[in-house]
Amino acid sequence: MNRLGVKPDAPCLAVDIGGTKIDAAIVSTTGDISYRERIETKAGDRPLVDRVIALVLRVAEHKPFATVGIGCGGPIFEDGRRISPLNISQWRNFDLIGPISSVIKKPVMLDVDTKALALAEGVFGGARHLNNFVSMVVSTGIGGGVVVDGRLLNGEHGNAGHIGHVNVEPNGRLCGCGAHGCLEAEASGTAIASMTGQAPALADNEIRRRTGQMVGRAAGSVASLLDVEHFFVAGSVALGFGDLFFTAANEEAGCVAQISFARGVRIQPSSLVDRGPLVGAACVGWRSQT
Ligand SMILES: [Zn+2]
Repeated sequence: MNRLGVKPDAPCLAVDIGGTKIDAAIVSTTGDISYRERIETKAGDRPLVDRVIALVLRVAEHKPFATVGIGCGGPIFEDGRRISPLNISQWRNFDLIGPISSVIKKPVMLDVDTKALALAEGVFGGARHLNNFVSMVVSTGIGGGVVVDGRLLNGEHGNAGHIGHVNVEPNGRLCGCGAHGCLEAEASGTAIASMTGQAPALADNEIRRRTGQMVGRAAGSVASLLDVEHFFVAGSVALGFGDLFFTAANEEAGCVAQISFARGVRIQPSSLVDRGPLVGAACVGWRSQT
């Protein structure tokens, strides 16, 4: 298999780094996950990088692997050699690859977690047969990865796909990036909790529909911009909101994307469920061999 430059020809040690938790596991060439272990991002007195290295070393003991693949919240710089994840404030222009590769002695590759998920969707998920699609996560935050003409887009700094910072509401809520009305500021789990005072899982039907509408508004614009019809959405908020979310998202995307080639826009749940982030991180590692 060599899709999107991903060649899964040996197991990969995958690491998924988020603002709340960090998962690591061995991912087989068929996308199966084993020896999974999790740590809390904010727990403990030791520096986070030391705890991540300890986690990687523990998982590494279980089974031989060829490369390490890391998915991490964006933005990134220098194609992953420097990272400044919005949700991990102690890492700014931080080099994570260096410390890990110095102890593991194998190739270490890092990319934005949502771009990693797009690779997983294209290699193991619902986009296996598609050359043009967008993969999205609607969870605590909102992000995406874009595949056009069979290639994962990187952009000037490696951050293509940050759909969470597309404006969906002029004069809307303040976003963590500093702008107002970004999709992430209107439809992420963090935004919903802030607006309602409750966990997103407790949101009423109106909030569920509005969240889908906001996501559909951004997706509709992207569909017209890139001539992409297929959107695969993962993340606890979108999947938890279910049919109300997806119906509203598709209706709004249809309203926004009126030009003839974009009218087929379709927003559907990701088929990868909870294995997506780690399989995506593994796909990042497998790209190092190309
Ligand atoms: Zn923003």
